[in-house]
Amino acid sequence: MVNLSTPLSQFPTVKKALSRKLHSLGLIKAQDLLYYFPFRYDDYSQTVAVKNIIPDVPLTVFGRLQLLTNRRSFARGKMVTEGIVADETGQVKVIWFNQPYLIKNLQVGDEIFLAGKAELNKYGLQLVNPVYEKARKNGNNLNTGRLVPVYSTTSGLSQKQIRFLLSLVLEAVPTLSDWLPEEISRQFNFLSLAESLREVHFPTAEEKFLQAKNRFQLEELLLIQLRNEKSRLNLLNSQSAGRLKFNQEAVQAFVNHLPFQLTPNQKTAAWEILQDLEKVQPMNRLLDGDVGSGKTVVAVMTCLNCAVNGYQAALMAPTEILANQHFETLSKLLEGFPVKIALLTSKQYKFSARGSNPGSKKELVEKIKAGEVDLIVGTQSLIAEKLKFKKLGLVIVDEQHRFGVAQRHKIQTKGRGKKQPHFLSMTATPIPRSYALSLYGDLDLSLIKHKPLDRKPIITKLVEEINRQKAYDFIRQQVVLGRQIFVVCPLIEDKKNSDKKSVLTEYQKLSQEIFPDLRVNYLHGKMLAKEKEELMNGFLNKDFDILISTSVVEVGVDVPNASVIMIEGAERFGLAQLHQFRGRVGRSSHQSYCLLFSGTLGSKTKQRLQYFTENEDGFSLAEKDLEMRGPGEVFGTNQHGFPELKIADLSDLDLVKKSREIARTILKKDPSLDSYPLLKEKIKDWEKTIHWE
Ligand code: ADP
Ligand code: MG
Repeated sequence: MVNLSTPLSQFPTVKKALSRKLHSLGLIKAQDLLYYFPFRYDDYSQTVAVKNIIPDVPLTVFGRLQLLTNRRSFARGKMVTEGIVADETGQVKVIWFNQPYLIKNLQVGDEIFLAGKAELNKYGLQLVNPVYEKARKNGNNLNTGRLVPVYSTTSGLSQKQIRFLLSLVLEAVPTLSDWLPEEISRQFNFLSLAESLREVHFPTAEEKFLQAKNRFQLEELLLIQLRNEKSRLNLLNSQSAGRLKFNQEAVQAFVNHLPFQLTPNQKTAAWEILQDLEKVQPMNRLLDGDVGSGKTVVAVMTCLNCAVNGYQAALMAPTEILANQHFETLSKLLEGFPVKIALLTSKQYKFSARGSNPGSKKELVEKIKAGEVDLIVGTQSLIAEKLKFKKLGLVIVDEQHRFGVAQRHKIQTKGRGKKQPHFLSMTATPIPRSYALSLYGDLDLSLIKHKPLDRKPIITKLVEEINRQKAYDFIRQQVVLGRQIFVVCPLIEDKKNSDKKSVLTEYQKLSQEIFPDLRVNYLHGKMLAKEKEELMNGFLNKDFDILISTSVVEVGVDVPNASVIMIEGAERFGLAQLHQFRGRVGRSSHQSYCLLFSGTLGSKTKQRLQYFTENEDGFSLAEKDLEMRGPGEVFGTNQHGFPELKIADLSDLDLVKKSREIARTILKKDPSLDSYPLLKEKIKDWEKTIHWE
């Protein structure tokens, strides 16, 4: 008897090779496939008589195959399969490229459905590369004459194979026990689970399909929310964190020692955090503040307070360069305070306490274990299995969306025994409070909304194409003054049929034609981490003047000497992302500039970019962006500890909120979920299979 946990390999049509392919997509059990949702549907539902075929419209034709031959096309060097299909209204030519095996699968006389588009050229009207399907006994087409599901797949596994297998599994699984609590299904008027699954893969009617989709979206969000809510309650009920007393004396001394006054936002954030640290419930807080808003000082105050309480603190950055920068900053800010700081990454180790530099990495690791280091700055290597802390009280993660939740959990287990460190993550992606509350309900939130007052605004301009040369002249002037320049392009290489600028082409152009006398270099995401690292370091050391890159430059590296960022194809980026780019400059006393270039603009896009030039507040930009594009686009779906979403859409804030309410209600009623055994099992299952980032 087949059920949801039956391995797909037990289906007779699934041979070894196919099973391996499915496995590589994570499709092992029947359930995996049933929950493998299409990412798109092609509409071939319009079935027409041959005489009614019109070019360039997706449609389906049903007819009898009258001719089928293979030949080699000399012009194109391809194998061409040609056929003729006829119904009572006429006949039409069909042509397939590079599918010579078709001749084995189809025979003259076969009745077939063909789904695709017709082209009208000098040979007349012909169907080009249509999908074919023989009439099925039960009359339910899978590939033609309907909304056809399209799945992401891997080479050697065709859409047809996936659809066929799905149809088998859907037929074979007789009843499905529904883990969604009945009261919810009723409240939302959902179809049964089995029917929902059929509809979401092979839609029969729009209304049913939407209902099915809605159901799976809610399911997915609900699982996430249940997990968040559970972790919130766990923290709330846990008494496992070290109490870090607010040491007013030390903190005040630190503040007095700063070369500037804290902003009101910084003070509030620091206060909220220091309050949390006094509790036995582990803190789980997000410090959200624009680039340059001064999150680091707040983090340092927190670390200091931790150290004077006799606990260790760890600060993790997403890259080696950032870790190094943090180490330098922290060492400077904490000079004269009784805090021993070390840097530990996979490549570097340093120790600030004078005269006691570790001879080897091993020695440093030992010191950390022995509690002789108070503050450890590093990258992901800090969560390496081997590294042990004596008494870890606080973990801070900078630019947290670059860390997976799994890693976050791992570092939280680095405390001693059952002790959990307090946890603070920091991000420069502005997340409006309403979204944060409904999406990240397990986190408390501190916002730094306003930057220090002494900042010069960055001058932002939308530059018309006719002024490009002027912009280059301006850039040259800045370089002559000793400044450095970022150039951001949407693509790495030129793409066919696209006029979007690419890093490699712009590099050619700028280094050879425009600035042959200046030092130009480039960077993109396909380069090795090591190469990127070296390049960024070189830029930081002023080894070259202009750095052309893709959006990889987005994350927090501080190059204070850079004064211009020029963004090509600006219309391609969201406001929040543009804002992150802009944050690369304006990090010193030099007046800085952000120059936007774009292709031809629709009025809406122009308005969006115009708004950007006039606004420098990340939170208002994020809100505008959300309004115009939705959070899926704005935040990406797998940031901030969100698992990859299969079907749900974060821009449906309404559903996000509802799922949160439901999760809260369920857990309030039954924290153990014992009265929801199916749901409980589902969560356990789900937590094993989800991919966190
Ligand atoms: P981010 O929030 O992007 O991490 P940083 O913490 O790196 O920002 O701060 C950016 C710069 O602003 C640093 O050079 C820091 O010393 C400075 N800074 C921080 N707080 C203030 C303040 N209250 N007044 C003036 N400058 C400040
Ligand atoms: Mg920072």
